[in-house]
Amino acid sequence: MKYLPLHHDFAGRHCLVIGGGMVALRRARRIIEAGGRVDVIAAEVGEELAELVVANGGAIARRRYAPGDAAGRYALVVAATDDRAVNRQVAEEARCNGVAVNVATDAALGDVVFPLTIERDPITISVASGAASPTLTRLLGNRIDALIPSGYGELARLVGRFRRQAKAKIADTAARIRFWENILQGVVAESVFSGKGEEAERLLAQALESSAPGEAQPIGEVYLIGAGPGDPDLLTLRAFRLLQQADVVLYDRLVAPEILQRLHADTELVYVGKRRADHSVPQRNINQMLIDHARAGRRVARLKGGDPFIFGRGGEEIGRLAEEGIPFQVIPGITAANGCACYAGIPLTHRDHAQSVRFVTGQLRDGSVDLDWENLIAPKQTLVFYMSLQGLPLICENLLRCGLAASLPVALIEKGTTLRQKVYVSTLGGMRAVLDELDIRAPTIFIVGSVVSLHHKLGWFSGQER
Ligand code: SAH
Repeated sequence: MKYLPLHHDFAGRHCLVIGGGMVALRRARRIIEAGGRVDVIAAEVGEELAELVVANGGAIARRRYAPGDAAGRYALVVAATDDRAVNRQVAEEARCNGVAVNVATDAALGDVVFPLTIERDPITISVASGAASPTLTRLLGNRIDALIPSGYGELARLVGRFRRQAKAKIADTAARIRFWENILQGVVAESVFSGKGEEAERLLAQALESSAPGEAQPIGEVYLIGAGPGDPDLLTLRAFRLLQQADVVLYDRLVAPEILQRLHADTELVYVGKRRADHSVPQRNINQMLIDHARAGRRVARLKGGDPFIFGRGGEEIGRLAEEGIPFQVIPGITAANGCACYAGIPLTHRDHAQSVRFVTGQLRDGSVDLDWENLIAPKQTLVFYMSLQGLPLICENLLRCGLAASLPVALIEKGTTLRQKVYVSTLGGMRAVLDELDIRAPTIFIVGSVVSLHHKLGWFSGQER
């Protein structure tokens, strides 16, 4: 992240805008709206800008920028001329003098950008794309704007009036956060949104009155959440909402870092991932951590790659919770087989190719893959092997031995659904050579069956293929 997003109290701050056209006017207006004072330097200053600045007590110098103008005394300098060389000069001078500078038409030249804002006063949502794409910023801003009821400002003011009272009444921070989440997602919020402000206030006062005293131990809960196979956008809405309200998140190695970045800054993150053959946190410790956190009254999210019930040991974890009487929810995720196959353009079933699909673990135990090979094989079936990179030569060998054709198409998908996804298409007989030739890294999933032949038609959008 190149930019540090800050919401700056600008009341009374002194700013300089260099330039007198429309762009300068827009900048000056925003600064003044935030309580700042603006001086302008420009050979020609538009009428509206001039009026605005004078009414606000700022000074106007009707001349061109001269070195020394952007040095010191200002909290912010905005270069808004249509002369790139001048803008650059202003930016350099300001920077040398430790003054923040924005270049209106070329954000990369300056060090401060004006984000697009969505206002629900006192709430401000800022959207910025660095200097990458103002259009993208605007499109994103439109979406967010459409999502947020206009009553949010009203709601914020209402809860703001009760904050101190709630703090006195509910001493425990976690319990207080939970109280506010209930208020902000429940009937009080809905009353505000439908214009019944007084009713909302009455309900809020009532809720606070009847809330448990601060000392009471809140009850914790565990959410066993499937994070999907890699692309963070494959998280379900439910998973996302619960992650947002979790106090602590225990996550695995395969969970996309982008998902963790979307959590609240004060969410406690605990890595409990295992590397193959290096069981850094034993399963029973993870089970115990879930129990301990929940007993301490926390909302605990146990975030696992893919789906928690597919090769995820999710069943064991909630088994212990059930024994201990701790409430839990399981939120399904998109499993690697589904995600990778879709992103690679390989339908796992297809009327002409496969009527069934089997998900199989290819994990090695004592150097061999322990599977009932004969029973694994069936006509018109797709096989998907998880955890199979190490054992792949053995898997291919066994499938050939049991009668599958050497010409049967296979696909090995590396880092599926992520931006680094690669799809290696080969045949059962040819896979070994591909493995020897290329440096393929986990996680990978191995798909065996004639559906793989459809990749050439449907998988044009996926990554590299062999
Ligand atoms: N519960 C998970 C699977 C955990 S086992 C799920 O439902 O997806 C871990 C195995 O999943 C890996 O060895 C690999 O075979 C597969 N896997 C997970 N993410 C993957 C990805 N992005 N690309 C390819 N394979 C993946």
